[in-house]
Amino acid sequence: MAAEAIPATKLAYFDDMWTVESTATLLSQLQTEDGRIALILDATIFYPQGGGQPADTGFITGAASGFKFVVEDVKLKDGLVYHYGAFENPQDDCFCIPKMGEKLSLRVNLQRRDFNSRLHSAGHLLDICMHKVGLSHLEPGKGYHFSDGPFVEYKGIIPQDLLQIKQQELEKEANALILTGGKVSASILPYDEASEWCGGDLPSYISKDSTPRIVKLGDHPGCPCGGTHVADIANIKSLMVTHIRTKKGFTKVFYNISP
Ligand SMILES: [Zn+2]
Repeated sequence: MAAEAIPATKLAYFDDMWTVESTATLLSQLQTEDGRIALILDATIFYPQGGGQPADTGFITGAASGFKFVVEDVKLKDGLVYHYGAFENPQDDCFCIPKMGEKLSLRVNLQRRDFNSRLHSAGHLLDICMHKVGLSHLEPGKGYHFSDGPFVEYKGIIPQDLLQIKQQELEKEANALILTGGKVSASILPYDEASEWCGGDLPSYISKDSTPRIVKLGDHPGCPCGGTHVADIANIKSLMVTHIRTKKGFTKVFYNISP
């Protein structure tokens, strides 16, 4: 089946961020130019890299044909989710070939997902704290929620003599909110309602005729996001603001979480 004839993959993690085992139907198996194998399914719980969050890893198995596929990377392209990886065969003489239309079992690496969700939620929490420490005039830009130096970037600067005190205030505020806790939700909403959930306005890249997915931490204003998050703010456990760098009109707030 040509990739363009395959219907868009249903992003099951969009509605339910906490399911790490599910079933789906195999629609296509492709070999990429660099020799990698990609599976395309009708629906997936695997998070494809994007929005500053790394991809999930895990397994896809087919009971009928007996194959096990190790998912090493996941990408979303033109509505299709590509699960990249390799087949793991128990014996050399048994090469199990998946059948199109076969019912598959999906299992996401829970430990990795959990850490990525905590790191992503911590970035959102940090943004909430920016308002609480008097830095709400800084305009949030991109977030980088990978373990090798996560940060949230803002348009605007913090005066050099305030950097250290703001770093301390942010960290203190974030850990106080973690201690209090609060339910985390992700909802797909009509534009006006979404705007309300986000404190009255949405970033300009959200089109007025769309139904954005809004992630909300506790009672704090939400923001549009396609990522996965913890179920409760308390699950972030602890947040360190490692340093703040401000230059050329931009500020990066670097942070980390406990393992
Ligand atoms: Zn996000």
